[in-house]
Amino acid sequence: MAGERQADCLFCKIVAGEVPATVVRETETTLAFRDINPQAPTHVLVIPKVHYPDAATLAVAEPQIAADILRESAEVAAEDKTAGSGYRIIFNTGSGAGQTVFHAHAHVLGGRGFNWPPG
Ligand code: C5P
Repeated sequence: MAGERQADCLFCKIVAGEVPATVVRETETTLAFRDINPQAPTHVLVIPKVHYPDAATLAVAEPQIAADILRESAEVAAEDKTAGSGYRIIFNTGSGAGQTVFHAHAHVLGGRGFNWPPG
C-alpha cells in the first residue's frame, strides 16, 4: 500500500533505527539527519517517515507531510544559522537528476556560497 515501509529501502531502515544516522530533528511525520557525504557545511536530509519514491509523489499522496518537509527544512537551516547567507532545499527527482535513494528526501544545503545554474 502507498506509504508503507519498503524492505529494501535504506531510508526506511534509518527511520526504523536499523541503520545509524546523525539525527538533528524529528517530528511525528519527518526525520532530519546529516548526509554521510556532505556537500556543504550544512547538508541535512529531511525525509518523511512514510515511504514514497520521490517528493512529487509524496506531495500528491500526502500534501500535509510534504508541507512538513518544507517547514522542517527551514527549521534545520535556522538551527544551523544558514539563514543569513541563504540556503538551498533540493529534491533530486529521477536518476537523471542525481537521485540515488528512492525514498523522498529534501537536501538542505548551507554555510557556503552557491553557483547558478546548479551543476
Ligand atoms: O538525492 P540523492 O538520492 O542522490 O541523495 C541521497 C543522499 O543520501 C546522498 O547525498 C547520500 O550521501 C546520502 N546518504 C546518507 N546516508 C546513507 C546513504 C546515503 O546520508 N546511509
